[in-house]
Amino acid sequence: MGGGPLDAEGDGRGVSDDRPGDRTDTRLVTGGRRAEWTQGIVNPAVWRASTILYDSVAEMRARHHDTHEKLYYGRRGTPTQWSLADALTGLEPGAEGTLLYPSGVAAVTTALLAVLKPGDELLMVDSAYEPTRAFCGNILKRNGIRTTFYDPLAGAAIADMIGPDTRAIFMESPGSLTFEVQDVPAIVAAAKARGCVTLIDNTWATPLYLPVMAMGVDLSILACTKYVVGHSDVMMGSVTASAALWPALRAATHALGQCVSPDDAYLAARGLRTMSVRLARHQESALKVARWLEAQPEVARVLHPALPSCPGHALWQRDFSGASGLFSFILDGGDDAARTALIDGLRLFGIGFSWGGFESLAIPSDPASIRTATRWQAEGPLVRLHIGLEDADDLIADLAEGLARFRAVRG
Ligand SMILES: *Cc1c(COP(=O)(O)O)cnc(C)c1O
Repeated sequence: MGGGPLDAEGDGRGVSDDRPGDRTDTRLVTGGRRAEWTQGIVNPAVWRASTILYDSVAEMRARHHDTHEKLYYGRRGTPTQWSLADALTGLEPGAEGTLLYPSGVAAVTTALLAVLKPGDELLMVDSAYEPTRAFCGNILKRNGIRTTFYDPLAGAAIADMIGPDTRAIFMESPGSLTFEVQDVPAIVAAAKARGCVTLIDNTWATPLYLPVMAMGVDLSILACTKYVVGHSDVMMGSVTASAALWPALRAATHALGQCVSPDDAYLAARGLRTMSVRLARHQESALKVARWLEAQPEVARVLHPALPSCPGHALWQRDFSGASGLFSFILDGGDDAARTALIDGLRLFGIGFSWGGFESLAIPSDPASIRTATRWQAEGPLVRLHIGLEDADDLIADLAEGLARFRAVRG
């Protein structure tokens, strides 16, 4: 390797990203752009690799003992992946490091496997993303790990559920279908008092609106597929760890062979640079649409954490610095056919899974069948919206026609 480009000393052309005092928007721009990774180019290049060649057997053996952010083998990444991971770590004050995964689900499952062993109990929020729930019921169960689901609004009362085998508490705040906001500080305090690990799926708020590591959470999970990538064209997940959990996370990630392609890491890093400006627009437009929906007679309730009608709204006000573009609303009466008439005819909202891209999306969801610890009761069917970067008034006009179709079928 001697003399290769990665041996270049920082020459001042890269951007220093080691100023903890910089504000978040600055860190989004400077993060991960170390001189030895960029070589003076604004965006770190796509470094493709499986085999890495060493000068000698001795060098090959020496490298084995210290592989972090060093070329070792393609599965451990290249500067392209390290740069993205480093930029994500920089958004979470108090974090030790970040690892990347081929999807958000892979990030969730690897984080859980990093902290749980047979005989352990996991406390899982009842409003969790459905594939997260499913993993508890199949792979974890088969490996002797018991899951107990808890009310998303439990708060400090979670302490009463912590038993001798409870090892970890998993949060998702707000829930990505029903939007209950959790009391993260209270749950972290209860967990710490009993030596439990805390994990959170922070995909909705991102570290920009809820820096969870600073709140004492041990593992922060993002489906980067959503707002980090931001353009609906890459699958990616990340887990950011505290110093205490970093060795366990690395060990599980390496043992499971988790890695991402440099091309995908490049695209995700490119998306990350504009995440703050995109989120600001998603927030503004989503609030405008949510407030409009709230005033429509066909709408029973709007589940948006920034609106008082959302369970946990006071916690959102206390802990979050913003809201993203995803929320739900409950129709006033009507059945699935009436809801389908609303959604099928929408001109600007796509019908599809995922969210966080520049485009608006609408899906039907029926949370009642998913829950076990709490009962889902609503006045009518639920519609989940992702508000994209279109003009909010055009989206409102589209929804107004949708509500008219709903009314026509509901009667
Ligand atoms: C989409 C999503 C995931 C999973 O991410 P994928 O990249 O689609 O695997 C996890 N959690 C939440 C809250 C999500 O919305």
